[in-house]
Amino acid sequence: MKQFVFLGACCLVLSGAGAQESAPAAEVPKVFRATAEKINDLVHTKLDARFNFQKSQLNGKAWITLRPHFYPTDSLRLDAKGMDVRQVALVRGGQNKALKFTNTGMELLITLDKTYSRQEPYTIYIDYTAKPDELKVEGSAAITDAKGLYFINPRGEEAGKPTQIWTQGETEATSVWVPTIDKPNQKTTNEILMTVPAKYVTLSNGLLVKQTRNADGTRTDHWKMDLPHAPYLFFMGVGDYAVVKDQWKGKEVSYYVEKEYAPVARRIFGNTPEMMSFFSRILGVEYPWSKYAQMTARDYVSGAMENTTATLHQESAQQDARQLSEENAWEGTIAHELFHQWFGDLVTAESWSNLTVNESFANYSEYLWNEYKYGKDAADAHNLSDMQGYLMSGSEKKDLVRHYYRDKEDMFDAVSYNKGGRILHMLRNHLGDSAFFKALNVYLTNNRFKAAEAHNLRLAFEEVSGKDLNWYFNQWYFGAGHPKLDINYSYDEAAKKVRVIVQQKQAGDKLFVLPTTVDIYTGASKVRHKIWVSDKVDTFSFNAATKPDLVNFDGDKVLLATKTENKTIAEYAHQYKYAGNYVDRREAIDAAARRQDEAAAQAILTQGLSDRYEGIRAYTVSRLDLRKDAIKTLAEPQLARIAKADPKRGVKAAAIAKLGTFRKAEYASIFRSAVSDSSYNVAGNALEALSRVDSSAAVAEAKRLANTKMKGKLAATVTNILVSAGDPAAATMMISNFETMPLGQSKFEAIKPMTDFLARLTDEGLFRRGVDAVVKFMGEIPAAYRDQTNPFIEGLLADVQKQQDAAGRKALAQYVQEKLAKKGF
Ligand SMILES: [Zn+2]
Repeated sequence: MKQFVFLGACCLVLSGAGAQESAPAAEVPKVFRATAEKINDLVHTKLDARFNFQKSQLNGKAWITLRPHFYPTDSLRLDAKGMDVRQVALVRGGQNKALKFTNTGMELLITLDKTYSRQEPYTIYIDYTAKPDELKVEGSAAITDAKGLYFINPRGEEAGKPTQIWTQGETEATSVWVPTIDKPNQKTTNEILMTVPAKYVTLSNGLLVKQTRNADGTRTDHWKMDLPHAPYLFFMGVGDYAVVKDQWKGKEVSYYVEKEYAPVARRIFGNTPEMMSFFSRILGVEYPWSKYAQMTARDYVSGAMENTTATLHQESAQQDARQLSEENAWEGTIAHELFHQWFGDLVTAESWSNLTVNESFANYSEYLWNEYKYGKDAADAHNLSDMQGYLMSGSEKKDLVRHYYRDKEDMFDAVSYNKGGRILHMLRNHLGDSAFFKALNVYLTNNRFKAAEAHNLRLAFEEVSGKDLNWYFNQWYFGAGHPKLDINYSYDEAAKKVRVIVQQKQAGDKLFVLPTTVDIYTGASKVRHKIWVSDKVDTFSFNAATKPDLVNFDGDKVLLATKTENKTIAEYAHQYKYAGNYVDRREAIDAAARRQDEAAAQAILTQGLSDRYEGIRAYTVSRLDLRKDAIKTLAEPQLARIAKADPKRGVKAAAIAKLGTFRKAEYASIFRSAVSDSSYNVAGNALEALSRVDSSAAVAEAKRLANTKMKGKLAATVTNILVSAGDPAAATMMISNFETMPLGQSKFEAIKPMTDFLARLTDEGLFRRGVDAVVKFMGEIPAAYRDQTNPFIEGLLADVQKQQDAAGRKALAQYVQEKLAKKGF
């Protein structure tokens, strides 16, 4: 679940700004988080669900079949959180026989009618009401982020918001709406009957086997899942959706979207069947379930969730045609949740301590899909961005498999996701593609429909490769941190030898064992040497008849490490041209960006502006230091060329923004035509650039656009221009738009334009409202993401304070300062 979207966005924004200080770690209790003991096993769960929209409650009748796991037992413990339970009975021969039970508010403790052996399955009937909105944990206020069952606008009182019901089981919240053994090491088949007003569609796990129209205007949908999966993957979704249907090998693949997004549903989700083919092929295990549906949700508490056969996405997935013209920002998440159908749903982490066997794979699937569909550069760019996310998260003390944690929700972090994905990537590089993917096949085949832990993974890799891999798993899975390498290259003319000295400089005693490569370049020709780094200081010598043009450590650029190197700018120029990986080229751009006065560096930057991959072109644009005359001179014609003609909208938008800073009237026509571009970023940047060279034309454009539908950068720019032109209604609109945006990725992305706007706002009442809205948003971000997001947002607010202070608006600056000083929102 819980695709780590907020962190991803944070890293994107922060990557140019340097690492943040890591927050002090919260105290971790000394409690070993063991895998749940299995006393009884779930076998089948049948639920008849009726929804009370007035009270946001579910009236349920559940039939739960179980059997003792191994030892005979005469009792049963079920998780049942905050329920009113009317009856618990044993079902035998069609008769219900009442059983004694205690409802603790969190659990049902049931006394069975006799002792059962593991050969004797039995069925329990429970009649209950689930009350998610009244659920309290340990006497605290009603909780918002583990309610399990969510009623959105259930009484139709909120204008502009559809009525929806959806569930979020992970980690252990399914037991808020159906009694179960709510642990990831349980597996059960299930069927769910949902009775809803006939105007709504429903979605659940497995196949829709029957629909019945009822006399009272409702309809009962009967969903059946005939393969076992974990209770946290149970799902119910209800709402007024358009259902757009594709298929894959005769199985239904469907997209549930709000009706206005039906025309673009295939542009958002339409690569799903190709992903199913691709993942089935590389894993050698065909997509295992009977169908695959994806649904969007309002006010969703997570990024997306891989409920078996029924993935739920945050509403940010619903992008309009103009957003999609730039890119489908949700495609990585679509791949991530689909890959979970194997890693997570078919084979499930046996405990939250072992979350890596779910989330590290789902994270890595984003690399795999990018590599296959968009090429290695796109995948490597994603890899680097995720690695930076881990490096900036301050998680150096956390093991990947972690038996000590404060809360199970804390496992959903940059270690389980970002770092775990990189660890798989290094293992693939070490073992080779065919061994790596064969081992995934063995792991999935050996553990299908079961729960597993990291050791099952190690055994699969060992079985296939024939290699003992305890060292790798002890280092990366059951240990923490990453290497900090200092690498020195030299050439000994007399001995005709290249020397590479690698020092491990990370704090503490831990030394990493790193199988890697050193590539020695003479012109275009490359000789590769395989090495193992293992000591505090390792010295490697290689024969070379002449001084090489480049010695390139970690030739495939896969190591999860930070490093410093003593390469010259000439060597970086060679690296850019011949080494060829995305990271090779990006390192060369970084080196050149640090020395923009040197001709050799300028030559690298010029090449970067015409790189074959759009990510490098856009990155180079972002690194140009236009305060330097030489850079201005060389970059100007290039930026004009890119602004006019680059085929990729992201690059175009970046170039237009830079070109705008030249404030030259001769570019007005470029900006004016780009204002009508389909991409909000291109259009928004163009309008901003136009306002610098022809402000009356920009105001006229903004007034025209104000009456059209817009999102993102364009919407923010239009508002900013209207506000600057003295239109008070625009400022109010900007703030109320932000206030009413639902919690999610889009709102996170709106923070920067919002704080830019607040930094210039003069109206005190509106200013306070705006700051309050930002502070409120910080408090609403789920706890798991807050450590990463809030320092970033606080930094933006501190900038607002500084700018207001500098502008002499002391009262406004003071207001921000007071808000920032207040902790614990
Ligand atoms: Zn996930």
